[in-house]
Amino acid sequence: MAGKEGKGAVKDSRINPFEDTVQRLRETFRTGRTRPAEFRAAQLRALGRFLQDNKQLLQEALAQDLKKSAFESDLSEIILCQNEVDLALRSLHSWMKDEPVARNLLTQLDSAFIRKEPFGLVLIIAPWNYPLNLTLVPLVGALAAGNCVMLKPSEISQGTEKVLTEVLPQYLDQSCFAVVQGGPKEAQQLLQHKFDYIFFTGSPRVGKIVMTAAAKHLTPVTLELGGKNPCYVDDNCDPQTVANRVAWFRYFNTGQTCVAPDYILCSPMMQEKLVPALQSTITRFYGEDPRSSPDLGRIISEKHFQRLRGLLSSGRVAIGGQSDESDRYIAPTVLVDVAETEPVMQEEIFGPILPIMNVRSLDEAVDFINRREKPLALYAFSRSQQVVNQVLDRTSSGSFGGNEGFMYMTLSSMPFGGVGLSGMGRYHGKFSFDTFSNHRGCLLSCSGLEKLNDIRYPPYSDWNKQLIRWVLGPKSCTLL
Ligand code: NAD
Repeated sequence: MAGKEGKGAVKDSRINPFEDTVQRLRETFRTGRTRPAEFRAAQLRALGRFLQDNKQLLQEALAQDLKKSAFESDLSEIILCQNEVDLALRSLHSWMKDEPVARNLLTQLDSAFIRKEPFGLVLIIAPWNYPLNLTLVPLVGALAAGNCVMLKPSEISQGTEKVLTEVLPQYLDQSCFAVVQGGPKEAQQLLQHKFDYIFFTGSPRVGKIVMTAAAKHLTPVTLELGGKNPCYVDDNCDPQTVANRVAWFRYFNTGQTCVAPDYILCSPMMQEKLVPALQSTITRFYGEDPRSSPDLGRIISEKHFQRLRGLLSSGRVAIGGQSDESDRYIAPTVLVDVAETEPVMQEEIFGPILPIMNVRSLDEAVDFINRREKPLALYAFSRSQQVVNQVLDRTSSGSFGGNEGFMYMTLSSMPFGGVGLSGMGRYHGKFSFDTFSNHRGCLLSCSGLEKLNDIRYPPYSDWNKQLIRWVLGPKSCTLL
């Protein structure tokens, strides 16, 4: 429903659909209305109320979009958003506090600190796979930091988009908050405007479009992107434990998770043990006929269904492989004998398909990983902590899980974000607040004691120079 106006959504107009809204929010920001802690807290509390009052509506919307089970909706969307709201409310005053910094002898009588101030008008663009979480978690940070916000949810998760467009604005102050309904066309119209910060979650392809548009105004960006997340499984492992953990994270949300393990790297010997273990796990999780399991969702759209069905012909199907277009169903699948050059190894899978590639050693696995773009997440399984640490030490990624999948996503204390092609910037918890705040270095001096400043003024002399060098140097600092 691109560009369609929902209740509380931004008004459409032929020439410049977002001009008025951008202007309105900018004007609100200039009044200083969003800066006081009380105002920020009121918006956060309202966001919390939105989550509580509309829990069932949201679960239904997520079921409509992704056939997401109530358990997965609660765990990965509603609870995580609520936790972020609660943490921000509890921590707002301490996050907002000026942060004192060390001084040198020359500034000893002054006050030196970092002030976290809001950027101004922030644009948040979100994807469809966790359509609530990936829209509201950044929103918590933006509101806590005192910004005005324009929010563009994904047009593909239509059920959730409708709730966010029609219901959420009823809770938040509309003089400083607006939701834009629409797809790429509307996003590009939005991006023509100057924002003070852009927070984008989505594909690397669109990330480049967003960054190019932001560059025109020199607007800072956070890009939360995707990619292929490797999962190394060492020979020294209990295959059933690995199978349980990997299968849960791979098939959670029907594999449509940016941090899901995208492919396994292991020896042929481990593969032989892992495939039956995965089969047993999949049957235990989803029954003999996963299609009828209430815990397995569906592929978001026809386009993604066709793309995924195409990937099923890579290598050989060891488990699953069934699909049904009428229902956008793809069975939890494991592929073996997969070559590096096959389609399933060329793109982020983003569906319930798990290819296994064989490597002969840890060195070969590390080399394989390091020859590719830096992933959003990387996983290593081994009974040996040394092996896990070696993978950690010799590779790079946005996040890392040792003998674990993406449970770190439940920790607001952990920064979340990509590196290289998987993105830039960090958020969650205080990291979100810091992302949406300008860290302003401030030095406040008293207006008296002018005589003390003589040493820095011309006419310069050797004596001044030496004194200044000493006063600014490390030796003087150790005296303080
Ligand atoms: P997408 O890039 O197609 O779309 C994301 C957003 O950008 C949507 O709101 C969409 O309307 C908008 N958009 C699409 N085309 C556009 C264009 N040409 N110009 C401007 N805006 C445009 O991504 P998606 O399909 O919604 O989500 C899947 C991707 O997102 C995957 O690559 C996945 O890894 C990534 N992702 C990353 C994270 C993360 O936290 N790093 C989380 C979820 C998804």
